[in-house]
Amino acid sequence: MLKLDNHPSGRHFLHIPGPSPAPARVLRAISFQTIDHRGPEFGQLGLKLLADMQKIFKTKHPVIIYPSSGTGAWEAALVNTLSAGDHVLMYETGQFATLWQKLADRLGIKTEFLGKPGAEGWRYGVDAAMIEERLKADTSHQIKAVCVVHNETSTGVTSNIAAVRKAIDAAKHPALLMVDTISGLASADYRHDEWGVDVTVSGSQKGLMLPPGLGFNALSPKALEANKTAKLPKAFWAWDEILESNKTGYWPTTPSTNLLYGLHEALDMILTEGLDNVFARHQRLAKACRAAVEAWGLEVQCKDPAVYSPVLTGVVTPEGVDADKLRKLIHERYNLSLGTGLGKVKGKMFRVGHLGDCNELALLGALSGCEMGMKAFGIKLKGSGVVAAQDLLL
Ligand SMILES: *Cc1c(COP(=O)(O)O)cnc(C)c1O
Repeated sequence: MLKLDNHPSGRHFLHIPGPSPAPARVLRAISFQTIDHRGPEFGQLGLKLLADMQKIFKTKHPVIIYPSSGTGAWEAALVNTLSAGDHVLMYETGQFATLWQKLADRLGIKTEFLGKPGAEGWRYGVDAAMIEERLKADTSHQIKAVCVVHNETSTGVTSNIAAVRKAIDAAKHPALLMVDTISGLASADYRHDEWGVDVTVSGSQKGLMLPPGLGFNALSPKALEANKTAKLPKAFWAWDEILESNKTGYWPTTPSTNLLYGLHEALDMILTEGLDNVFARHQRLAKACRAAVEAWGLEVQCKDPAVYSPVLTGVVTPEGVDADKLRKLIHERYNLSLGTGLGKVKGKMFRVGHLGDCNELALLGALSGCEMGMKAFGIKLKGSGVVAAQDLLL
């Protein structure tokens, strides 16, 4: 029989960019007894969570919580605002942008995929000027939405969402702006209202420090307006019934009660530390991680310092090194899980997650595992990344 607790002694270093390690406090909260989701206590929990999630998204407008992974929340954003055959502009920043585009295609949406060509395009964030130019050419307003990924988890590159908003406004275009910050939320600065986002999509298992299983949509008044005429089929994902039920803190179907206990605990941790402190901690850890990569004499996947991800760092392995074989060795020897290269960068890089419940020594442990693993694999390193990261974190 498969034994789920059959791990080696010591701590497992889970440094993939999601799921991220769930803190003990959160896991304990999840283990509390399941209560009646129609009972009197539950409504209080629901109202508190919905209000606190608005603080996390920085919005005054409704937030929807689904018992789903992030992919469900992607689908929900599209089916609640669009109709079959609608033209949508998406931007290829990496594998997750690609998967969202494929999902939209399957729903019968006509997608147009902007971006810089080849694997090189996966080293930069969204070029807002390209979006502005495309929208200006769409004089008959066929394009109904612009969809971009805020923190591209496959590469460690963020995108400037405020610049995308400006581009849409400069083109005087009515398209909705939809943003995936599944891996960015609660680790990287995000401002739903200020950046004029219509639907923000997120998930529980990354910056929010929960196990997988909750999906989120943050809405805008314009998204709610679009919802009234959107014709794509939807039932489980439909916002209207959920919003009605949410008024009193309940859901129309059975919510993930125990994950919501965990969310309550995670939000308490995040809001007690303070969002700005959380963001600063992640920036600092990311900087230390990049210092390590530089000291090793390797390259970071992101080529634009203005959009380095605070959530994860993509490390390009030297020519001729199979990054997945290296990851395997590191996992077997040191009980450290690193993210694999996806899609166009498969075998060419690994990803170090430093999101959610991460601190100095957790990161240094992961960097030690990388450094030892690379040496054991026979990679010639320029110097010690661990020492460089320590110096930065002193
Ligand atoms: C993880 C992730 C997804 C997919 O979410 P699931 O929870 O795996 O369905 C989508 N987009 C981004 C940017 C992600 O990091």
